Amino acid sequence: MKIIDIIKTGKPSLSFEVFPPKTSDTFETVKRASEEIATLNPAFMSVTYGAGGGTSEYTLEIAKNLQSKGVTALAHLTCVNSTKQEVSARLKSLKESGIENILALRGDITPENRERESWDYHYANELVSQIKRDYDFCVGGACYPEGHPECDSQSKDIDNLKRKIEAGCDFLTTQMFFDNNILYNFLYKLGNKGVDVPVVAGIMPVTNGKQIKRTCALCGSLLPPRFKAIVDKYGDKPEAMKQAGIAYATEQIIDLFANGINVVHVYSMNKFDVASKICDNISEIIK
Ligand code: FAD
Repeated sequence: MKIIDIIKTGKPSLSFEVFPPKTSDTFETVKRASEEIATLNPAFMSVTYGAGGGTSEYTLEIAKNLQSKGVTALAHLTCVNSTKQEVSARLKSLKESGIENILALRGDITPENRERESWDYHYANELVSQIKRDYDFCVGGACYPEGHPECDSQSKDIDNLKRKIEAGCDFLTTQMFFDNNILYNFLYKLGNKGVDVPVVAGIMPVTNGKQIKRTCALCGSLLPPRFKAIVDKYGDKPEAMKQAGIAYATEQIIDLFANGINVVHVYSMNKFDVASKICDNISEIIK
């Protein structure tokens, strides 16, 4: 099923994210974890794409397996490290595997790819255009309620985001945020700039205090004082941090549903127990 049609039903629901293994020896473990999460009956499941593209086969295999279990899969695809021919070949494989949904991304600029002289792709809108020109995939794009770290103004970032939508992006998924007001302000600004595609809100249940400080520093997400206090207090106590992180994410999700967001994407990071606890916490809300 196409994700845009799932979003359009207007039913409050969750989607979950899994990341593929880096090496073949952990493939079965990740596959099993994704199958377990699939039993929670999410609206869809997304499968990330390894930063350098080297694990693209695993993204495809995990997404294909999820589809075969009856779960709508969203396969991530980055382009910055790829040639047009490589992307064409990946799109063909995705199509032949029955995948209907792609999250079209540029990928991060790293010290390894920064020096490339002649890139085939500079921005995600070029990938979206290629996909929409050649196929009928439902295409999602990333958006950044606090602005993308490379862009010096949010207004410019939203103008750039519009290029993806003009290229045919059907929906957007947000970077994680820990204060829902940040999302509400962002949605208001999108509306003012005429962006009218549905936005799926990305929520990260934080289960590791140290890791989240690093991640937020990299992706530019603000840690609000209320959340920072939780990380400071429980960051060194893994089980307490997990419980507090799940409770915090649950509160965010309930508030998002109450304020008109229909689909919340949970950055569940292959953790069935975390995904399952969140489903339990809102079982009556998404019934
Ligand atoms: P773009 O939309 O191309 O934007 C990148 C920057 O360029 C922004 O600053 C933007 O303002 C600017 N820009 C965009 N278009 C133009 C233009 N035409 N002209 C000038 N400036 C422009 N990474 C992975 O490696 N694998 C994943 O699976 C993955 N999944 C992700 C899922 C989500 C929901 C999110 C939010 C991010 C994900 N990322 C993933 C990270 C992503 O690859 C990085 O954030 C990357 O730096 C930007 O990707 P993008 O598709 O948003 O790029």
